[in-house]
Amino acid sequence: MAVELITIPCRADNYAWLLSDSASGLAALVDVPDAAPVLEALEASGWTLDYIWLTHHHDDHIAGVAEVVAATGAKVWGAAADAHRLPPLDLALTEGAAPDFGAQAVQVFDVPGHTVGHIAYYLPGAGMAFTGDSLMSWGCGRLFEGTPAQMFGSLAKFAALPPETVICSGHEYTLSNGRFALSLEPDHPDLLARMAAAEMARAQGHPTLPVDLATELATNPFLRGSDPALARALGLAEGADALAVFTAARAAKDRF
Ligand code: ZN
Ligand code: FE
Repeated sequence: MAVELITIPCRADNYAWLLSDSASGLAALVDVPDAAPVLEALEASGWTLDYIWLTHHHDDHIAGVAEVVAATGAKVWGAAADAHRLPPLDLALTEGAAPDFGAQAVQVFDVPGHTVGHIAYYLPGAGMAFTGDSLMSWGCGRLFEGTPAQMFGSLAKFAALPPETVICSGHEYTLSNGRFALSLEPDHPDLLARMAAAEMARAQGHPTLPVDLATELATNPFLRGSDPALARALGLAEGADALAVFTAARAAKDRF
């Protein structure tokens, strides 16, 4: 039941994710910021690419698709809702779809907010979620198209997964997201510990991703809307509901 995972740094701060199901030998790539680093990683892996799974339509997630398809013949999956602004799709997905990936079950989640047609891929057997620019390391995507309520609902889907789930998101934003989180709660021990670990990883040139959901649940301000301390830090009443806290946190991050 094992899935092997390779993190591929692209551009200034993007990640593509390459994974292979060892039982079937099938391989998939999540998002394609650039063709060159992806094709290089693919060659080094020795895997044959079967699928490209797209999370959303932004250029820094799809720019390399045509070149990688031309080089590999991989089939492209993406959101049916955004088929008009994604590269040509071989498989158009909606929430609840369970597309075939060898021995691995794949569940598709609609996670609007950053864009309205954003989707995520969850592999329950492998305990991995590919979240693109919805749930991000220590943060969440900016609301370019959707509402706070939409992103709040999207993040709730991830928060309900097993805490050991490995979160693979689209960008190396951990340090800047962490600075924002610490601006709200400068003395929070879990935040301080995470920042120290992230700074060490970055100083050594290592990605801070992937990250387990338990860490996000403990430290990500966009997942901690029911924590009265966070409500207080945002200037809200301690009984403020979780959506109000999320909305205030997102607005504060936009100004940060
Ligand atoms: Zn994006
Ligand atoms: Fe992005």
